[in-house]
Amino acid sequence: MIGIRFEEGEYRPYFMCDKCGGYITKQEPGVMCWPMDLDDTDKSKPNAVGMGYVAHKGECHRSYELEFRSEGDVPGWSELSEATEHLKLNSSS
Ligand SMILES: [Zn+2]
Repeated sequence: MIGIRFEEGEYRPYFMCDKCGGYITKQEPGVMCWPMDLDDTDKSKPNAVGMGYVAHKGECHRSYELEFRSEGDVPGWSELSEATEHLKLNSSS
């Protein structure tokens, strides 16, 4: 998720870990992860909607991967920096 923090006299947006609620920082970098449904082979649904989660690399990310696998899904993930680049490109069209 995206949170807003007031610091040094201004409001600044930050990514926050959807698993533990902590801020994503350079010292504690993050990923975006999501469950991929292997049975979702119906190509007639090109605009399928799914949920992506922001998580710290390491324990929080692994926790989501275990959760996705326990639900029968394959974990997908991307570096948070790559995910934000895709968001910028996709929101400008
Ligand atoms: Zn976390």
